[in-house]
Amino acid sequence: MRLSGIRLHWVQVPLWEPFRISNGEVSVKEAILVEVHAGDRSGWGEASPLAGSAYSGETPQSTWEFLRNHLVPAFLERPELDPHHCFERLEEFPGEPFAKAGLEGAVWDLSAQQLGTPLWSLLGGRKRAIESGAAIGLFPDLSDLLTRVEKFLGQGYRRVKIKIAPGQDVELVRAVRQRFGSVPLMVDANAAYRLGDAKVFEELDRFGLMMIEQPLAREALGEHAELQNKLRTPICLDESAENLESVRSIIRQGSGRILNIKVQRMGGLWPAHQAHDLAQAAGMPCWLGTMPELGIASVQGLHLATLPNFTLPSDVEASERWFVDDIISSPIAITPDGLIGLSDEPGMGCGVVAEKVERYRIRLEELRA
Ligand code: MG
Repeated sequence: MRLSGIRLHWVQVPLWEPFRISNGEVSVKEAILVEVHAGDRSGWGEASPLAGSAYSGETPQSTWEFLRNHLVPAFLERPELDPHHCFERLEEFPGEPFAKAGLEGAVWDLSAQQLGTPLWSLLGGRKRAIESGAAIGLFPDLSDLLTRVEKFLGQGYRRVKIKIAPGQDVELVRAVRQRFGSVPLMVDANAAYRLGDAKVFEELDRFGLMMIEQPLAREALGEHAELQNKLRTPICLDESAENLESVRSIIRQGSGRILNIKVQRMGGLWPAHQAHDLAQAAGMPCWLGTMPELGIASVQGLHLATLPNFTLPSDVEASERWFVDDIISSPIAITPDGLIGLSDEPGMGCGVVAEKVERYRIRLEELRA
């Protein structure tokens, strides 16, 4: 394809309730929507760094500047593109995975539209519905946690993930097990523990959890392997799985048995596809994580999650779980049995509602080839 122009839309969509992160809280979801044009068609992507740099150094501002000043001008200078090789072009720039994921997603969507094929097919997946799991944060009061678990199980979600932190761990899991029996349950520690806390995980090991997500620090790959050797419950790496190089290290060191793949952090659908392939070759099942993102990036991630080694429920939830509104024409919804279906339409299979983009937009920039 030959790009003729790119538009960047910085949007802020309100959240139902503030999202609490380690260094404060945010009340809007920020994203930079990337609209690429070729001929009379346009494709959409989403760069979705979390405000407040909870997971990484990238912010909406830094991502906007990198797209506006570097990536977009470079791509418009050499506008011939093919999605399978877009990643190589992006690799010429160090870092900035969110910006890259936004631009690359738009190129995939537009290519799939031009070919008249659904994105899942162009990515090499097979059509299927994706299992969705609910993720629940920490609450000061245990009864608030239990109320939420009940609500999400009632909505059909296929598994429940609860966040844990030192001092708020074993008793939370015990309470959920006592109240809800053997429901599919996992915990996410967000790297909050040290190997010296192994006793906590040995206790958690008795509760039949699906997995323990990221117990130790991001760089503690050897310690994760040591901890995994003490446990029956699989360890899942999330924060540690930063890029393809770190995925290779995780596999080599045996740091865990499951991988959480986030398209935004990997820098696009193609590197995320490669992470899936590496995990598959190593016999390590994976699942699709989220930052969370608005509809565009979420739907594109779900297309990728049709690849065969994505065998565990995704963290992608219904649009209405977090956002007061979504900018795609058919917001993500889950069926009563916890599945998210995908369309057979070309591209990502849903439109972007221009009027909503305008409503939530705080900045717009248009660049032409
Ligand atoms: Mg996590």
